Amino acid sequence: MRVPFGRQRVVGVVVALADQTEVPDAKLRDVQQVLDAAPVFSAAELALLTWAADYYHHPVGEVFAAALPRLLRAGHDAIAMQVVWFVTEDAAPALADGQLRRAPRQLALLQLLGAGALGEQQLDAALPGWRPAARELLKRGLLRHVAAPTATLHAQVTQREAGPPLNQAQQQAVAAVAAQANKPGAFLLDGVTGSGKTEVYLQLAAQTLQHDQSVLVLCPEIGLTPQLVQRFGQRFAGTIAALHSGLTDRERLDAWRAAASGAARIVIGTRSAVFAPMHSLGLIIVDEEHDSSYKQQEGGFRYSARDLALLRGQRAQAPVLLGSATPSFESLYNVSQGRMTRLQLPERAGNAQPPALTVVDMRAHAVHRGLSTPLLSAMDRHLAQGAQVLLYLNRRGYAPTLLCTSCGWTAQCGSCDARLTVHQRADVLACHHCGAQQQRPERCPRCGYEVRPLGHGTERVEETLAQRFPGLAVERFDRDILRAQDALEGAIHRVHSGAARILVGTQMLTKGHHFPDVTLVGILNADQSLFSTDFRATERLAQTIVQVAGRAGRADRPGEVIIQSQYPDHPLLRTLLTQGYEGFAASAMTERDQARWPPFLRMAVLRASDTTPQGAMQFLDAARKAAGSVDGVELRGPVPAAMTRRADRYHAQLLIESDQRTRLQRFLSQWIPRVETQPARGKLRWVLDVDPLEVF
Ligand code: ADP
Ligand code: ZN
Repeated sequence: MRVPFGRQRVVGVVVALADQTEVPDAKLRDVQQVLDAAPVFSAAELALLTWAADYYHHPVGEVFAAALPRLLRAGHDAIAMQVVWFVTEDAAPALADGQLRRAPRQLALLQLLGAGALGEQQLDAALPGWRPAARELLKRGLLRHVAAPTATLHAQVTQREAGPPLNQAQQQAVAAVAAQANKPGAFLLDGVTGSGKTEVYLQLAAQTLQHDQSVLVLCPEIGLTPQLVQRFGQRFAGTIAALHSGLTDRERLDAWRAAASGAARIVIGTRSAVFAPMHSLGLIIVDEEHDSSYKQQEGGFRYSARDLALLRGQRAQAPVLLGSATPSFESLYNVSQGRMTRLQLPERAGNAQPPALTVVDMRAHAVHRGLSTPLLSAMDRHLAQGAQVLLYLNRRGYAPTLLCTSCGWTAQCGSCDARLTVHQRADVLACHHCGAQQQRPERCPRCGYEVRPLGHGTERVEETLAQRFPGLAVERFDRDILRAQDALEGAIHRVHSGAARILVGTQMLTKGHHFPDVTLVGILNADQSLFSTDFRATERLAQTIVQVAGRAGRADRPGEVIIQSQYPDHPLLRTLLTQGYEGFAASAMTERDQARWPPFLRMAVLRASDTTPQGAMQFLDAARKAAGSVDGVELRGPVPAAMTRRADRYHAQLLIESDQRTRLQRFLSQWIPRVETQPARGKLRWVLDVDPLEVF
């Protein structure tokens, strides 16, 4: 509803009504306008949002804002309306006595509507150019029209095709989840890329739709939504609402309305779709549940869509299915605690062989601009057989450093503790942390000697490949070159058509896309994460390696994966190679347990930043003092962040840990209000991150 707020008018959400108040009459003000006749949140959705506000210790208004499309917050109706035409009582006699013989269009329209009311869009389709006839009939009193919710006119979903018969493991997975219909239940569907997880989702969705319930599907990236929407669209006829960040405000509102009205029985979306309004929710699927994009890592409301999906399913009595080839340690831990049931798909569908992994010792082989001889000769071999090759490198740009070969000067960002990346085509130096750009100097600003790019980014590897493999088309996948969704689709199309022979790219290549003709995957630099201070770095690295490897050798062609490393004997790489992700996870989780990190511990982090080096630390020191000492809760820090200065702000953090979630929550509930009243300089910012993904 719209209410006066100071001198403004704002849109608010009514969460409760009261018939009494202590506020004096003179101070009470009237609601100006009620915007929606029906609540925009169901009771269950409201409970979920309130719970999230409590758990993440964030103002409930901002939590609501995260859940509602912008246009709805700006006052648009929650229900899409359209004009529906229908016949009056006089229509039947008029048809019978032949009045309309001379007006065939009016006759046709009247006959059409005589069979049942239709919306304007349906009339456009059934009888193009119907409007003049409708106006005439309206004048004659034979037709009338009203505004009605769009949804009431189409809520049918049918299955277009049955899909392949499931293999035994898939059948077991479907049966296990289906047995839990209308009951809370959490499942981890664990299977490599190509093992048929999506088929399991589709079959379970079919069963849920048959019971007149709806399905919520979450996936990590907008790049992946079209693919998933397409697969669901091929299987099911009916409206599928897609909710992701690539939508315009209008499209987002339409998709939200389609979900809210029940017109769309399948809703597929990224992180914030976990708040989508759902009509009789029967199943939640979280694909690639390990993906870090499920956690909001910016702004104030830092929620985990995966965790909220589990909670939402539990409350709605709907099973939740998390799928991944590389399950998060959180989910594996939940399985070990009996809170989640693990369902495994051990084989690739259609009997495809898993790829063979090898590590190339970069110190023992000649390396040509980032590409080792064993990798280059493997590329020759695979390309000669007509296959495609994929190279993964987690570094965009031309080179990560611009170096003076005489005095050792490197180009540094003026606002961050970071080096500037060389971008060749754009001919600039860019900071990947704050986005600042500067001109690239010809000579060292300190000694005047020649400067050179040092190291390799995707842009440079692309250049090297063009020289080393002349005549073979190289397709680069990174944010610099594929800014728009259609650019990405174009690139994917060139890979599928076979026009592109070599793919080089960043993280973008590790997700979702199926490249059936890729038989060789090269991971150019696995070392960056091996020695990171972040407790999750090795988990991420193993997930990345396994996910990239999963792009290779689908169907009947065995794949090969080559990992380049300066540390081929690193225990992480060895365990991953010899025991696979499962073995790696087991040993890495033992280490995490011993080092007391999540998921073996509950954690929150209070982050602060300020324009002076001391400001953030002083604020966190005071916040720590305000905590006093609390049983069962430990505070660690504050410490400056690993990259202290970012975009001219100095960052620091304070960790809060406990063995028990409830203890941690109780502490935060008492402490955060005290932190809020800490005196803080005007430029200081702080945010609480519950269940942080990264601490460094
Ligand atoms: P994932 O989601 O685990 O990557 P998909 O469900 O996409 O796996 O399956 C990979 C490929 O195998 C797809 O082309 C899919 O149609 C096919 N597929 C999956 N299950 C079966 C099955 N039981 N029989 C035949 N083909 C299958
Ligand atoms: Zn910077």
